[in-house]
Amino acid sequence: PWMSDPRTRRVLDALARDGIGVRFVGGCVRDALLGKDVVDIDLAIDHPPEAAMRALTAAHLKVIPTGIKHGTITAVSGGRPYEITTLRRDVETDGRHAIVAFTDDWRADAARRDFTFNAMFCDASGDLWDFFSGRDDLVAGRVRFVGDAATRIDEDVLRTLRFFRFHAWYGRAPFDADGFAACRAAAGKLRSLSAERVRKELLKLLAADDPAATIEAMAAIGLFSHWLPEHGGTDLLRRVVANERAVSVADGLRRLAAIIGPAGDATMIGKRLRLSTQESLRLTVMLSAEPVIDVGHGAAAVRRQVYQLGNALYVDRLMRASDAGLPAWMQAYRLATTWTAPELPVSGGDVLKAGVPAGRRVGALVAALEGWWIDRDFAPDRAACLAELRRRIEAGEGA
Ligand code: ATP
Ligand code: MG
Repeated sequence: PWMSDPRTRRVLDALARDGIGVRFVGGCVRDALLGKDVVDIDLAIDHPPEAAMRALTAAHLKVIPTGIKHGTITAVSGGRPYEITTLRRDVETDGRHAIVAFTDDWRADAARRDFTFNAMFCDASGDLWDFFSGRDDLVAGRVRFVGDAATRIDEDVLRTLRFFRFHAWYGRAPFDADGFAACRAAAGKLRSLSAERVRKELLKLLAADDPAATIEAMAAIGLFSHWLPEHGGTDLLRRVVANERAVSVADGLRRLAAIIGPAGDATMIGKRLRLSTQESLRLTVMLSAEPVIDVGHGAAAVRRQVYQLGNALYVDRLMRASDAGLPAWMQAYRLATTWTAPELPVSGGDVLKAGVPAGRRVGALVAALEGWWIDRDFAPDRAACLAELRRRIEAGEGA
């Protein structure tokens, strides 16, 4: 059914019309075999990217040369992106950069991929090309390297993190012994990776259904010693996962915060992992030493904190709160995701109009009024706020 989506057919037909061999690859093949919803569709082709560009353009599809030098273009069909990559084979490798060439050999391309279940192709009629028994491994929940694990990690040490990422998502069997041993042996080499690649794998790993056991196994063999030495156990992670489950959102960054010990410095971690400003801010709020939210104080207390932190940051904080009283917790969550904080109905301009000269007193009066308004659960309207303001000015407050 996902294969016969008309948007997908348009892309496949455009390529096939020009004699280009095309197959599905990667995540979509995996998810389809597991009966999961397919979201991202990646395609592999046996012609150079320029040939695919021509074929797609002739069929009036939008094409973006996303990484054309490396053989990747993106077609857009009905608003949906399709990443299309030309088959590659290894020519040689110097340990960090593989030198590759385009090929029309499906097996050679599969052999370059990391895990057996990531090396399967499937064509438009549903036929599966499974060169390394990936389907069996997938069904058994076994993450197995294509070829010798140690060699494959030597070629690209990111594959250690990917081993655990895919284990967290699909693993149901114990770790593959060869793969695990090779990851352990490579732990000291992770420092040579780029922060971007590490961050991407780490956040994806953490977004798995229940990543705690995998995280513990990684910590035990020193996989965090360079990139996240602040790692402080998984107790909080387990609580955050349970709370997220109650409301069905998995958030990698929030979970990252949960595995950082109490001494973790958000700014430093943000720099090391090249987090965005927004992500660093979230991390700071989530790691701050202030007590986590106590959901036991009713709706007005929740609204006060949502107003002060903003809805998203409040939810981040809430996720760390104890799940001792689930009903109260759920109520706080619902409030925080449905309530929009109102704006203070008066401003500095109103204070000036009331006759207070420009200066520090203006800000002081607005701040005091805001506190008063929050204490009344945001109920006073503009008229009531103006009356209170006049009362305070007459009483000489802030003068
Ligand atoms: P998802 O997109 O759902 O996270 P995916 O399998 O599509 O999963 P990607 O990281 O998008 O994962 O990579 C796409 C495919 O490219 C993989 O399935 C794998 O075949 C190959 N691949 C990606 N990174 C590597 C790597 N470091 N070494 C070898 N093969 C890789
Ligand atoms: Mg993908």
